[in-house]
This record gives sequence, C-alpha cells and structure tokens, in this order.
Amino acid sequence: MAQHQRPSKRDVRFRFNIPTINDDGSPIPAEWHLRCLKCEYDLTGLTSRHCPECGSAFKPYEIWVANRRKQADLYFRTPAYVPYGVLAALMLLALPVIRDNPLVLVPFGLLPVYEAAAHWFRWDPSGSRTIMIVLAVIASITVWAMLP
Ligand SMILES: [Zn+2]
Repeated sequence: MAQHQRPSKRDVRFRFNIPTINDDGSPIPAEWHLRCLKCEYDLTGLTSRHCPECGSAFKPYEIWVANRRKQADLYFRTPAYVPYGVLAALMLLALPVIRDNPLVLVPFGLLPVYEAAAHWFRWDPSGSRTIMIVLAVIASITVWAMLP
C-alpha cells in the first residue's frame, strides 16, 4: 500500500531525466537546460559535444553539475529586497533633502534601467546590484552638492 499519494519535491526531481557520466552522444534533451559554460549558448538538441557558438568542448554531466552549483550560489546570494530596503530607509531619512531638491532622485532612475537590462540580457544582477545602488547614492549626493 502506497504511503504517500501526493508527489513530494524529491519524487519530481527523480522523475527528471538527468545527464550521466557515460555520455552516449545522443541529442541534448531540453529538460536538461544545458548552457555552454563559456558563452551561455543553449546546447539543447546538439549531438556534437562542441559548442557551436564558441567552439569549446563540453561534457553534459559536467555542465549539469556546474549549473546546479551556480544555482546553489544564487540561492545563498543576498536577495534584491535587502539592498533596496536599505536604499528605501536611506531615502526616508533623506526625505527633507529630497523634498527640497527633487533633482537628487535623478541618479536613481539608473536602477530600474539596470534591472531591466539584467532581465533582458539574462545576466544575474545580484552580484553587482549593491555596487550599482552605492554608485547611485554617490551620484545623488554629488548632484545635491552641485545644486545651488
Ligand atoms: Zn559556448
């Protein structure tokens, strides 16, 4: 008698077809989501084990492991709401200055552009987000200092 009828997360993961060390050279299935480690090219459907974009040789299993590691790293990175929360708190503190000098908000227009670009070009903004926010704050203070 089955103890659990409801599939758990673990069951779902084991249903997926995953690459093994013994590569038989068959076309890369879409569900592996393999991307070239060098250039991010989508390797789905390839029977060759060379990236058509940058020419580097790859082993499906190694890429799969590397991608999983990358995902694990992402999981431990600072979520977006932390730096933006700090920024919001700073802005709240600076509210009297902002109210008198609304031009100091102009540099922060960069941040949504930056996030949109990261989304559009599919790069991960979490590593550089804090730097961008700090740059926007510095630019904002510079604008404030230059105002008459
Ligand atoms: Zn490549």
